[in-house]
Formats: sequence, C-alpha cells, structure tokens
Amino acid sequence: MTERTCIVCREKREKKELFRIAKLDESRYRFDKKQIAQTRAVYICKTHECIKRVSKNRKINLPTEDLISMLNMLKTENKNYLKILKAMKGSEFLTFGINLVINEIEHTHFLILAEDISEKNDKKIITLAKERGIPYVHYGMKKELGEIFNKSEINVVAVTNKKIAKGMIE
Ligand SMILES: [Zn+2]
Repeated sequence: MTERTCIVCREKREKKELFRIAKLDESRYRFDKKQIAQTRAVYICKTHECIKRVSKNRKINLPTEDLISMLNMLKTENKNYLKILKAMKGSEFLTFGINLVINEIEHTHFLILAEDISEKNDKKIITLAKERGIPYVHYGMKKELGEIFNKSEINVVAVTNKKIAKGMIE
C-alpha cells in the first residue's frame, strides 16, 4: 500500500485519499488533477479541513481555481446532489434554468450544472460563477435535474440561500 503524508495535517493516508499537488518550484504549486505531472509533488487530504487550511498557508501558493477544483472534486465524490435537490425541491431558495439563474446570479451561493449542459451555456454560467466566486459542481444529467422539478430538462440549478448553500457544500 502506497502511503503519503498530508502536507497540512501530517497524517499518513493512502494515495487515493489524497490530492496530488505538483511542486513547480520553491513557491509555486498546482493541483495535479490527472495525477500525471512529472514533477515533485506534495499531498493534501481530500477533506474540507485540509483544503481550507492549505488555502491559508502562505508557503503553499495554490491558485484559487485549483482550490475550487479540489473542492468540486470532493463534493462530487461525497455528495448525491440529486437526492439533496429532491429533498428540497419545494424550497424557495432554488432557482433553475439558464435565464432565471443568470437573473438571480447576485443572490446565488452555489450552482449545480448538468453534466451534459452545452459547452456554450456551461461557459456562460461558469464565467459568471468565477467572477463572483460562486462554487459550483457538475452533477446529474439535464433530464435527471428536470425530473426533480417536473420539467423535461434543466441545465442548471442555483441555490440562493447562503446557509443552505453552505450546508450543501460542506
Ligand atoms: Zn490532511
């Protein structure tokens, strides 16, 4: 069994429980999502705690997009967003559909995009999300998201309540 030590909490874990962070030079790091970079590397637990701590660590400078991407991977590995949405489908804090979501983007705290959303719509929504630092995941197919709200297809769902969004992310 290959074990590595988390650079944040110093715990030893199996490689699959850790994110690989490529070390480009003394101060620059990048999340090695596909685990292929031929560079030296450090490892971080796949936990919110360690990602949060590394984001505050001045010695390990990871681009914000890498932190978001790690958080997103964590979410998809741990959460069933279809189930969560089903449970809260009557909530006033959910908005769905491209146009409504764009209208509500200023009040949006979390976004769930269909995995089969068109490239154009994906780019449109993600650009807005990045500008505003809104976390997002790709989860479920348009049809699956649609079924929850009795529509044929839904491209994107926005969570417009901060507390609920936080609960869904953590
Ligand atoms: Zn750790």
